[in-house]
Amino acid sequence: MAKYGMSVDLTSCVACDACVVVCKMENSVPNDYTRDWTEQIVKGNYPNLRADLFSNRCQHCANAPCVSACPTEASYVKDGLVLVDRNKCVGCEQCIAACPYGARYLHPDSYVDKCTFCDHRLGTGHDPACVEICPTNSLVFGDMDDPKSKLSKILKERKYRTLKPMLGTVPKYFLLESITEPEEIKL
Ligand code: SF4
Ligand code: SF4
Ligand code: SF4
Repeated sequence: MAKYGMSVDLTSCVACDACVVVCKMENSVPNDYTRDWTEQIVKGNYPNLRADLFSNRCQHCANAPCVSACPTEASYVKDGLVLVDRNKCVGCEQCIAACPYGARYLHPDSYVDKCTFCDHRLGTGHDPACVEICPTNSLVFGDMDDPKSKLSKILKERKYRTLKPMLGTVPKYFLLESITEPEEIKL
């Protein structure tokens, strides 16, 4: 069994959106929808402000409210990936309402879609499309159950946080912070 996760480096992501564009191509995401996006979080008080720029997507939560909310078991977990079985999805949007990260959308073909960590690439020797395209190598994907994976190593070495930890969703998308981060910010 594997437990896949991903990290984004807040010290190097420049919100260039290359990961957003390549994801749309890789996964045939329709116009006006997206599986990933970029965000900015501003910290501090004027005039001492700092902005964290980062790429964001489904957090592949270990305790995923979208999976519990799904009445047809179309949303499920495999190897730590939170996925959607299009054939079982009835488009009721309960999972969209349950996701606190805004990670899901209703596809025009009436099923719910979201980031899969490009599960179709597993075993092909390729990382997810967004990871491969990133010009600053800000994204790292890997098996958290494998201590030799790049992700496991980076999570040991670097300080990180997750988004909305107070909700108990246990995200597997990690925001790598600067070693000199002055304080822990709870978002
Ligand atoms: S491609 Fe890399 S640098 Fe650009 S927004 Fe995505 S993660 Fe950030
Ligand atoms: S981020 Fe949203 S869609 Fe993704 S696993 Fe968590 S609750 Fe589900
Ligand atoms: S892992 Fe794949 S599906 Fe997820 S944001 Fe990256 S390119 Fe899109």
